[in-house]
Amino acid sequence: MKLSIRDLDLKGRTVFIRVDFNVPMAAGEITSDKRIRASLPTIRYALEQGAGVILASHLGRPKGKPNPEMSLKPAAVRLSDILMRPVKMASDCIGPEVEAMKPKPGEILLLENLRFHTEEEKNDPEFSRKLAALADVYVNDAFGSAHRAHASTVGMIRCMGQAAAGLLMDKELEYLSKVTQNPPRPSVAILGGAKVSDKIEVIRNLMKFVDRLLIGGAMAYTFLKAKGEPVGKSLLEEEKLELATSLMEQAGDKLMLPVDHVVASELKEDAACTTVTRIPDGMMGLDIGEQAVARYASVIAAARSVIWNGPMGVFEKPPFDKGTVAIARAVAQPGILSVVGGGDSEKAVKSAGVADKISHISTGGGASLEFLSGIELPGVAALTEKA
Ligand code: AMP
Repeated sequence: MKLSIRDLDLKGRTVFIRVDFNVPMAAGEITSDKRIRASLPTIRYALEQGAGVILASHLGRPKGKPNPEMSLKPAAVRLSDILMRPVKMASDCIGPEVEAMKPKPGEILLLENLRFHTEEEKNDPEFSRKLAALADVYVNDAFGSAHRAHASTVGMIRCMGQAAAGLLMDKELEYLSKVTQNPPRPSVAILGGAKVSDKIEVIRNLMKFVDRLLIGGAMAYTFLKAKGEPVGKSLLEEEKLELATSLMEQAGDKLMLPVDHVVASELKEDAACTTVTRIPDGMMGLDIGEQAVARYASVIAAARSVIWNGPMGVFEKPPFDKGTVAIARAVAQPGILSVVGGGDSEKAVKSAGVADKISHISTGGGASLEFLSGIELPGVAALTEKA
C-alpha cells in the first residue's frame, strides 16, 4: 500500500501536488474542465488541512519550449472560478521568481507548464531537485501521467521526504486493484476498439485471472480471420494473425468472439446495414450483432466484476453504436463491480445514460491500459510505501 495524502501532516507545510490539468483547449478556451474538477477533492483537502498548495501539470506537447498556446493560465482562472478563491499563476515552474511566490497556508500557486522545459520528460536530476526545493511534501494526483517516468512524477520524489497518492490517484489504484487482484467472481473483461496491437499485453495479462474475455470492435476481425472466418473488407491487422492465433490458444474457452456482425459496404453514418453471421465479400463489420450482444449480456449479467476498455463498434456513427450502448447498459447493472477505462468507453457509458451506475470510470487511458497489462506504473512505484 502506498502512502495517501490522508496519512500526511500538512498543517503549515507547503505541498507540491502533481495534478493532471492537461485539459482540451480550442482558441485559448478550455473545452472541458473535467480534469480540473477531478483534482478538486485533493486540493480542497490540502487547503482544509492548512497547507500552502503548489499545483503542477503538463499541458499538450510543447516539446521543451515555452508556447503561449499551451500555457496553464486558463486553468488557473478556471480553478479560481470553481473554488471561488484566488489562484496565483507563476510564469515558470522553477527559478527564483517561482521560489519567491511560495504559497502561505490556505493559498494556491499554479506553476506554468512543466513541459516548457525538456528536462521534465528527460527526468533530469537537476530540474527534479529544483522542483523538489519548492515544497516540503509531495503528492501525486495525476493518475493519467503515472505511466511516465518524468521529473514531476518520479525524479523529484528522490529529493523529498514523503511522497503520497492524492485522493483521485488513491481511488484509481483502489478500483483497478480490486478488479485485478482477487476480483469478485465470476470476473469478466470486455475489450474492444480498433487494434489488437494496442491491447496485446492487456489481453495476455487479463486472461491469467478473468473467467471470461469478451472481444468486440475491429480487433475481433483479426481474431476471426485467424480462425479462418471470412471478414470481407473489415479493418484487419494482417501482421497480427499469428499472434491472434496464439492468444486464442492460450485463452482457450475464456475468449469469446462475436457470433454475428452489423455490416455495411462503407463506413458512413446512417449507411444501409444488415446483420450477418458470415461477413460477405465487399462488406465490413462495423458493430457486434444482436446475438453477440445477447450472449455477451448474459455473461455480464452473471458476473460480479467487470473490466471494460474499448467500444464494440464504430459507436461514433449511429446505427453502429447499438452494440456498445447495449454493453454499457449490461455493465451498469447493480451488483457488478465495474471499472471502465479509455475515453471511448467513457463516452459510451455517458451516451447510454449509465455513467453514474459504473463503480469507477478511470481518468487515465494509457495509464489504465498499462496497469491492466500488469506493468507497475513508475509514478506509483515511486510513492512512499505505507509503514
Ligand atoms: P481504441 O482507441 O483502440 O479503443 O479504438 C477506438 C476506435 O475503434 C473508435 O474510434 C471506433 O470507431 C473504432 N472501431 C471500433 N470498432 C470498429 C470497427 N468494427 N471498424 C472500424 N473501426 C472500429
